[in-house]
Amino acid sequence: MTHIAVLGSTNMDLIAYVAKAPQRGETVTGREFRTLPGGKGANQAVAAARAGADNVSMIGAVGADAFGTQLRSALEHSGVDTDLLRTVDTAATGTAHIVVDDEGGNAIVVIPGANGTLTALAPGDEGLIASADTLLLQLEIPVEGVLAAAQAARRHGVRTVLTPAPAQPSPSSQLRSSRGYPIPPELLAAIDLLVPNEHEAATLTGITDPHAAAKALLDQVPEVVVTLGARGSLYAARDAEPVLVEAPHVTAVDTTGAGDTFVGTLAVALTQGGSMPDALAWASTAAALSVQRPGASASMPYRSEIDNEANGTAS
Ligand code: ADP
Repeated sequence: MTHIAVLGSTNMDLIAYVAKAPQRGETVTGREFRTLPGGKGANQAVAAARAGADNVSMIGAVGADAFGTQLRSALEHSGVDTDLLRTVDTAATGTAHIVVDDEGGNAIVVIPGANGTLTALAPGDEGLIASADTLLLQLEIPVEGVLAAAQAARRHGVRTVLTPAPAQPSPSSQLRSSRGYPIPPELLAAIDLLVPNEHEAATLTGITDPHAAAKALLDQVPEVVVTLGARGSLYAARDAEPVLVEAPHVTAVDTTGAGDTFVGTLAVALTQGGSMPDALAWASTAAALSVQRPGASASMPYRSEIDNEANGTAS
């Protein structure tokens, strides 16, 4: 049995497609509007469920509103257990207001809403984390909540994987998360595997070369995977040689959620006993499938599709 727990954000993405984004004070007429489930926590949970984890549990929060109801049922539809996804009446469901222009550029306002209430573990959370093999964490909720969950996982010998997104530069050498929270050293001390993309790795360390950034991050955590977009991913560990895994050459139509697909799938492969190089290759196959289809969680592949593609039997 593979059990993956995820603590993180659940958002409704509200996307306006326009030829050119408005300047301040300007009104423009857009072409299309879509609402799509999002939030890095929920995205990673969907990726892990589709990749064939026996059990995926989402710890998070939504508001007592229509978006909250829709997001809960979207997670359940993908096979994610939502018993510990709480509905709070003090805040609205988190939303991301996204303007996408014709050049594929975007501008985003995130309102954390209910996600911002996740400052500590609630009854049941630690028991669920203890029963999991792997806990997936990101930084779209208050860092205190992430820390509490990581430390609970540590107490119970559960593998922890942190996606340090969104990241912000630090005026000091101390790593910082978004909203100016420092990433506390205690959090990194409770992380087994850190998975930044190359921009996050550069932001966190001040080092633009991904190899050098990964090496610097090994001062804080024992294993790092830096994702490099179409160039693949780079694995570094304190006690092993670095491994560069190339991404399959595909035509990308929408790379939203590629990193979340990668992490969710990687976690399943590792939890099921795969070696790191095999797990990275499988996650790369999954992420490459996801970028060839529109949407974040909507584009995430199912296990049979990943296996078919990996075995070269895709039609
Ligand atoms: P994020 O989505 O977090 O910004 P990346 O852009 O690094 O992260 O993408 C994560 C992973 O998704 C990459 O390591 C790669 O395996 C895969 N990927 C992303 N873009 C492409 C692409 N254009 N072609 C093939 N694989 C891709």
